[in-house]
Amino acid sequence: EIHSLLDKIRDKNLILLEQNKELLMVQEELHNANQKLKQMSITDELTNCYNRRYMLGHMTNEIAVAFRYKIPFSIMILDIDNFKLINDTYGHLVGDDVLRSVVSTVKKNLRRSDIMSRFGGEEFIIYAPHTDRIGALSLAEKIRGAVENHSTRISQFCLNVTLSIGLISINDWSVEDRPLEKTLEDLLTKADKALYRAKANGRNCVVSADQIEKA
Ligand code: GH3
Ligand code: MG
Ligand code: MG
Repeated sequence: EIHSLLDKIRDKNLILLEQNKELLMVQEELHNANQKLKQMSITDELTNCYNRRYMLGHMTNEIAVAFRYKIPFSIMILDIDNFKLINDTYGHLVGDDVLRSVVSTVKKNLRRSDIMSRFGGEEFIIYAPHTDRIGALSLAEKIRGAVENHSTRISQFCLNVTLSIGLISINDWSVEDRPLEKTLEDLLTKADKALYRAKANGRNCVVSADQIEKA
């Protein structure tokens, strides 16, 4: 009787082991699917950059640390010049290729710690930690030049586009009594104003927010 009981237990154990193995496999599949979903939820599908939602959250966290420890940082808004003309002349799909190509050129000029996101249409934001005004101006100029000198190959022809860049660098860490989201909003508004000035100055150029404030 005992032998028969032991056999039964052994059989049950084998079944349990098999079921456990299957469960582990399902768990791994679920984990991978979750990772993929998480990645998708923070990525812009067309350009593979971070998306706007992720970027706003990320920058809010970053500036919290930067203000706390008085670390410089810069934010840049990049906008492709006359992009509507590319779409109108060559079609939307070519426009999409140009967007991807511009992103790839810009990314080649970034540090690993710099974060790039697609903020909308043909507009991108770069958050550069530990980067002061001088560093940001030089980085922006490098990016602008790289895009100007890069051609996107589209079957038989090549297309050139340029960027305008507005940037803001932080040099005053006095903490105001308001939410960080509001501080970030103000910084983005100032960078956007600088971008508009770059457009008004004839495009394909870099303007920093303090240049406007001084004027
Ligand atoms: P400016 O130099 O003043 O920035 O001129 P612009 O033509 O670049 O600016 P405008 O805002 O008039 O046009 C932006 C264009 O970007 C219009 C829109 O159709 C196009 N666009 C936005 N998102 C996408 C996209 O995902 N793919 C493509 N191909 N085009 C897009
Ligand atoms: Mg544009
Ligand atoms: Mg735009």
